[in-house]
Amino acid sequence: MGELDDLYQEVILDHYKKPRNFGVLDAPDRRLEGYNPLCGDRFLLTVKMNGDVIEDIRFKGGGCAISTASASIMTAAVKGKSRADVEAMFEKFHSLVTGTAEGAAADLGKLAAFGGVSEFPVRVKCATLAWHTLKAALEGKQDAVTTE
Ligand code: ZN
Repeated sequence: MGELDDLYQEVILDHYKKPRNFGVLDAPDRRLEGYNPLCGDRFLLTVKMNGDVIEDIRFKGGGCAISTASASIMTAAVKGKSRADVEAMFEKFHSLVTGTAEGAAADLGKLAAFGGVSEFPVRVKCATLAWHTLKAALEGKQDAVTTE
């Protein structure tokens, strides 16, 4: 298990140091801010849709390693996915980081790196901030998302 933890930590550090899909899209279909006052994580998500499918996505802003890596891995994971796909992924991811589902990591790919978060409840908000923001953006919400 120790080795697996190391690997997961590497994935998180890698995405923290070199965030993927970082920036702001021109003329996005969705644009929403998310804020986690507890930790100070703050992101702006911009999304380009093709019908119901996420064609492109970028995030900008800053936060702790967990929130930044989670946003980075999320943007890579949701590209080409439909809103229903994203909601299903978020549900699994949420179960994983809150420790409410055994074996939820199985089909989550790199998102499984956040399994250790369930041991640190205060970090759950960091890990899920980008997801909450994306979900609200896909629902067409305009007001910034806050975890409080
Ligand atoms: Zn944080």
